[in-house]
Amino acid sequence: MDRVALIDGYVDEPTCLGVPPYVSTYPRYIAGAIWAKSPFTEILYQTIDQVRVSFTAAQQRWAKTNLIILIAGMIVPGKYVGGTPISVREAKELFSSPILDHIPKLLVGPWARFGCGIEGGRLALGPDVLSPPFDFIVSGDPEVVVSQALDDGNMLDSIDLGMVRSSSQEIEHFIERGTRIVTQHPGFDKNYIICEIESYRGCPRFLTGGCSFCVEPSYGEPQQRAYSAIAQEIAALNSLGIRAFRIGHQADLFTYGSTEMGEEEFPRPNPDAIEQLFSATRRAASNIEVLHIDNVNPGTIARHPKESIAVAKTIIKYHTPGDVAAFGVESVDPEVIRRNNLKADADEVLDAVRLLNEVGKARPPWGLPHLLPGINLLYGLPGESKKTLEYNLIFLQELLKEGLLVRRINIRQVIGLPGTRIVDERAGRIRRNEFYRHREEVRDTIDVEMIKRVAPLGTILESAFIEADEGNHYLLRQLGTYPLLCHMPKGREETGRRSVFVVDHGPRSLTVLPYPFKIQQATLSQWKVVPGIGAKRAVRVKGVEHVADLQHLEAQLKMELPDWFTRTLDYD
Ligand code: SF4
Repeated sequence: MDRVALIDGYVDEPTCLGVPPYVSTYPRYIAGAIWAKSPFTEILYQTIDQVRVSFTAAQQRWAKTNLIILIAGMIVPGKYVGGTPISVREAKELFSSPILDHIPKLLVGPWARFGCGIEGGRLALGPDVLSPPFDFIVSGDPEVVVSQALDDGNMLDSIDLGMVRSSSQEIEHFIERGTRIVTQHPGFDKNYIICEIESYRGCPRFLTGGCSFCVEPSYGEPQQRAYSAIAQEIAALNSLGIRAFRIGHQADLFTYGSTEMGEEEFPRPNPDAIEQLFSATRRAASNIEVLHIDNVNPGTIARHPKESIAVAKTIIKYHTPGDVAAFGVESVDPEVIRRNNLKADADEVLDAVRLLNEVGKARPPWGLPHLLPGINLLYGLPGESKKTLEYNLIFLQELLKEGLLVRRINIRQVIGLPGTRIVDERAGRIRRNEFYRHREEVRDTIDVEMIKRVAPLGTILESAFIEADEGNHYLLRQLGTYPLLCHMPKGREETGRRSVFVVDHGPRSLTVLPYPFKIQQATLSQWKVVPGIGAKRAVRVKGVEHVADLQHLEAQLKMELPDWFTRTLDYD
């Protein structure tokens, strides 16, 4: 096979994110499977956002290949700043071009395996909705299927598209080989990439069927990767220039390496295994800029507090600050928990939040806390009623009352996926407008206060990237897990990445200024957001040019502005 087109339509599934700046495991594993069997095959890797620049140019390029593979699947509802996942309509249009008729087309990823999620609150469409234009819907592991097809002389027609790996060891040689595909990612040259790293697949709660809406238990008994294999992958990526990683591809990082995996619904964490994993990761890539985590089961922490404290401390020893342990709480309504076999009740979640605060809320000077919980709430589940909204709101209010910190609260509506229990059950009774009102209430009464605690005025966020130009301001985010969205009035220096500090808070975002704040270079719109300055004064301050006036201004600013602000000033 000479040439393969690999199109990344992005994925978002319970344990894997692949919307830029994240690069999911899919393109890396698939590329590795191809290069392991056919080292000289040219793989043309593009993201869907690159393809959108010109559909025609992309199709002409693909017309000269032997195989087209689309990776796609948003099966967890989300909103994205870094890219827009491919839609079903777009996929149909893009791959139905007559000039591509002669080329076999594979659909892989969550859409092919679980169904095409459209948006939260709706049932997913079956994968067949994309057949045609796709000739092969890969319901198994794409790297295994592609590898088998290459073994069989590219005979896709005769192979089982549902083939899966029997263990992670089976594909380790693909994983390492495929790392170099990231050099074709549009974020590579800007050093704006974070690689999602798999530590295990499947959910330990498969033993009881797992949560009603989740696809993860369908993988069966979790398959863990050896820490040495993970470190090898990270070393290979790092040697290419990747410096940001999220050990994020698992149901619950705290249970990685547990000897009770496969035997207990809530396996006892194994702090030694976490030590091995994180220390090996650091040795593999000493120049790491971001090392974060993702999912943690609050039920694990509540049941195993001693081991969980040890695990959290180990993570903090090796990771980079600003880290988030995403708790999939979903609901604290007892009826919803019961009907959907959720992982923890309100008391258990509260215990887990307290414990993680105890260990993780410390912060470097003027930085973000080390490791905080994030809370995911999910609506549209069986058993819901108006009371669910009350339960959840009271729970969040309790967090505030106790002075606890939560890095972010995600409020989403479930996508009903074929094969999960939720599609056979009657959904809850919350109307859409009630849901939206509730979400607003959380934004207005909980989020604003929480973000003020997490990133108080003057907090410095290093290496924030300018991601979008929004007219009179930029949108910036740090590379990392659940980055805070920053709005910065436009300045003179407009580079890709810079340090910023917080001057104001919105419910889910921050207003920031460049750090240090160079008073001679700051623009009028930047002065206007300096607390206590105001529009008229900003015009006068901007007009100061003479040295004597500047000295006077410096003295005045020091007297009038709060300490957290004056410490950011630079008069050069
Ligand atoms: S705990 Fe529930 S939501 Fe989390 S991975 Fe397991 S089944 Fe899915």
